Amino acid sequence: MNLQRVIERAVCRPVEIVLTNNRTSIISFRKERGRVVLRLQRLFADAPPEVLLEIAELIKRPSIKTPLVHDFFRRNQWRVRKKALVREKAEPEGKVYNLGRIFERINREYFSDRVDAVITWGKRSPKKAVRKRTLGSYNAETGTIRINPVLDCSRVPRYFVEYVVYHEMLHADIGISRRKNGRRAIHTREFRERERLFRDYRRAVQWERRARMSGFCP
Ligand SMILES: [Zn+2]
Repeated sequence: MNLQRVIERAVCRPVEIVLTNNRTSIISFRKERGRVVLRLQRLFADAPPEVLLEIAELIKRPSIKTPLVHDFFRRNQWRVRKKALVREKAEPEGKVYNLGRIFERINREYFSDRVDAVITWGKRSPKKAVRKRTLGSYNAETGTIRINPVLDCSRVPRYFVEYVVYHEMLHADIGISRRKNGRRAIHTREFRERERLFRDYRRAVQWERRARMSGFCP
């Protein structure tokens, strides 16, 4: 993590960073056995270097004032609020599958718990042809994964729902970069390689092929 490297270099000792969703305590740290455990509100993962250097300075001299940190947080906290709002409206619990639990398990198993996203069932839209339906989506702006409710059905195997969730979590984890020609790179080679690491990848792809012909949950 770049954040960690910048702060470690500035304080000249190992730093363990824990990103939190805490909305009141935005920075706290303790020193233990030669290293620093730093708890940071998640927003700071995208903070510019001068803000990170001020955090490093604070670790070295806890009595200093931190105007850059506070200014950065003030200008960006609407993101925290927006996310909290999205989280409140999310409906992860379906009739058959609880997306929250699936998300947590996959996050632990494949992502060391680092994916920070809200997951919810989408709204039902009966009109679209089954073959063209989007099964999942990830909105990077709000950090929301939406799963198509056609999958909330006992005839859809659990491993397939997990596969779709895993795919969207990969989007959240990898992010969307730009190619040299300026177009968005979504399913990059790295993405496809990591997608194949999913335990039931082959089964899931085969199941999807058949299901798209016959309808997911007729
Ligand atoms: Zn995708």
